[in-house]
Amino acid sequence: MTLVDMGIPAVRSELPSLHGRPETPLLVDRFGRIARDLRVSITEKCSLRCTYCMPEEGLPPIPREELLTADEIVRLVSLAVTELGVREVRFTGGEPLMRRELEQIVAGCHAAVPGTPLAMTTNGVGLEHRAAALVKAGLSRVNVSLDTVDQADFARLTRRDRLESVLNGIRAARDAGLTPVKVNAVLMRQNLAGAPDLLAWCLAEGCELRFIEEMPLDADHEWAREHMVTAADLLDVLGERFTLTPAGRVDPSAPAEKWLVDGGPATVGIIATVTRKFCDSCDRTRLTADGMLRSCLFSDQEFDVRTALRAGADDAEVAELWRGAMWQKWAGHGIDAAGFVPPERTMGAIGG
Ligand code: SAM
Ligand code: SF4
Repeated sequence: MTLVDMGIPAVRSELPSLHGRPETPLLVDRFGRIARDLRVSITEKCSLRCTYCMPEEGLPPIPREELLTADEIVRLVSLAVTELGVREVRFTGGEPLMRRELEQIVAGCHAAVPGTPLAMTTNGVGLEHRAAALVKAGLSRVNVSLDTVDQADFARLTRRDRLESVLNGIRAARDAGLTPVKVNAVLMRQNLAGAPDLLAWCLAEGCELRFIEEMPLDADHEWAREHMVTAADLLDVLGERFTLTPAGRVDPSAPAEKWLVDGGPATVGIIATVTRKFCDSCDRTRLTADGMLRSCLFSDQEFDVRTALRAGADDAEVAELWRGAMWQKWAGHGIDAAGFVPPERTMGAIGG
């Protein structure tokens, strides 16, 4: 298997250029954006095999020695908040619940940067047994991915029959106080007709549902612009059962456009990553499970902070590497540009 088959980019840089960068501790890029939102992938392992994300056999395992340790993650999160202006941290993967040290990582970060919101994006499998402990450790928000409430569709889309566990996980998160639970659904032909049922379920359970346009980050490389389901397709289908009124974006850097459902106050969000891209207001910075800094999901460049840490870099050196990595950030993802090439790492290997 080649590096590319494994979803590992060939381009890895250690020393980003800081040419032209203004004097600021913050994670500013060449287009004036400032990254405040850190996504930390903590594992490549997953309990599901969503067709738009993972290959059927899962991602090749990251060798133990290449995975950032819990202490390294806590150090980097702490540095990002205290030195670089990060204001929110989200743990993702792979599936973060697959990492046994998740509670330890959350507790370590909470102790290091108390007051900083710590969130998690999860598929919800097994969450019912851990939601209370995660809240105790300091987790403040959760997004659960759920594309359909139809059991057969769920099993087809995720290649696993775990719908019940996910639904129980969402309820347990809500009961543990992680409210409002946000539910993320990727839009596809296979779940479009079931979108109104999913919205009705979320409204009944008090969850905030957001649909996300599918991006070309699937391991099977089957995504095609002409076949993808768009936000406009979804609005047509939801409009047959609900009255939707545009409510706009409350926070301009928030990716979801909101719609009031049947006059409100309940809402549904649509994250139109492809057809109404929001790169101009992107405030994300990313750390992969094997310790690479990325400025964008679609970047072809990453910066090796794991090697720097293990070679004894001090906080000032790590911070400078991170600032340089973000200074290289592109203006946009370019999905609609002629000659667009998807990144070599797939969604599950970067952390969504
Ligand atoms: N396993 C966790 C989960 O599913 O929530 C966290 C990792 S997953 C990669 C993070 C998010 O990325 C999920 O909401 C998932 O639905 C989304 N995602 C995965 N592949 C995607 C794709 N090709 N396009 C859009 N979103 C995708
Ligand atoms: Fe696993 Fe999440 Fe990817 Fe689905 S979207 S395969 S749950 S990492």
